[in-house]
Amino acid sequence: MPDRMPQLGTGMNMIDPFGRTIDYLRVSVTDRCDFRCTYCMAEDMTFLPKKDLLSLEELDRLCTVFVEKGVRRLRLTGGEPLVRKNVMHLVRGLSRHLKSGALEELTLTTNGSQLARFAGELADAGVRRINVSLDTLDPTKFHAITRWGNLAKVLEGIDAAQAAGLKIKLNAVALKGLNDDELPDIMRWAHGRGMDMTIIETMPMGEISEDRTDRYLPLSLLRVQLERRFTLADIPYKTGGPARYVEVAETGGRLGFITPMTHNFCESCNRVRLTCTGTLYMCLGQEDAADLRAPLRASEGNDLLSSAIDEAIGRKPKGHDFVIDRRTSRPAVARHMSVTGG
Ligand code: SAM
Repeated sequence: MPDRMPQLGTGMNMIDPFGRTIDYLRVSVTDRCDFRCTYCMAEDMTFLPKKDLLSLEELDRLCTVFVEKGVRRLRLTGGEPLVRKNVMHLVRGLSRHLKSGALEELTLTTNGSQLARFAGELADAGVRRINVSLDTLDPTKFHAITRWGNLAKVLEGIDAAQAAGLKIKLNAVALKGLNDDELPDIMRWAHGRGMDMTIIETMPMGEISEDRTDRYLPLSLLRVQLERRFTLADIPYKTGGPARYVEVAETGGRLGFITPMTHNFCESCNRVRLTCTGTLYMCLGQEDAADLRAPLRASEGNDLLSSAIDEAIGRKPKGHDFVIDRRTSRPAVARHMSVTGG
């Protein structure tokens, strides 16, 4: 039970039991991905049958109700959002909320594999900034981490996105013994190309083929290591997400730390996450979820859906309790990151 009673229905805002305004929706448009990153997925994943997916029209309707209820930022993710068939139809449709001013930002998180094909269309639809996940610049390591990925294609995608005028933030998961020694070089490379970079702690989500403890690197430790080589100054820069940023004097660029394990950021959480089947997760690190597909399909009007969303926001938990250590062999949540998209 929450410590405090929900305060819902304050004007157009969604406010959770802890007084946090929810104005950011992340939507996983597919659970499928063309990569199989070792820390994210098992090699032989079972994906949802296509018939269980919401149609693009249904996803648009759901997102639109959230926008009407106060969501100002919308991020499409996955799985890999750009492998969902006709995804640009959804992007173009949702961009009407940018034009009307209801939405401040429409963005996406991608592995970059399809960016060369879609960058221009994304920019035309009003997308201004995207996150590209990239954990290494070494082609052999890239193949080892992603199992199926091709680094050259991702780099081509980054070039295309920058040429189309999209701002890129690079996201890298810190993986002990795999990419930790390379992170400073990736940062220099990103900053040299005018990209911000964010480093993320690996989270215990879903069964994978290896022991996460072996790869877990607390970012508090990485920061100490970085400070031996770089001058890091904390800055109040915010993008609506959970990263805390520093400016790196030697590169002039921004580096963000996302630290769900060593320092959780739940007190300022402004987000909820919708899956491609219409399930709403109120917290990345908890199992509780609300089914929005039934109220979506129960009537043509949106009243049922709106009440179901209010009810779900009223159960948003205070925070997650992720733990990674050798005594805790099971993931904190059974679902993989690809279900909710991070
Ligand atoms: N396919 C897209 C991509 O690669 O950006 C979007 C989905 S992917 C699940 C979103 C982000 O979650 C990626 O940056 C990925 O590295 C990260 N991720 C996946 N599993 C993770 C885990 N267990 N802990 C931390 N980050 C994870």
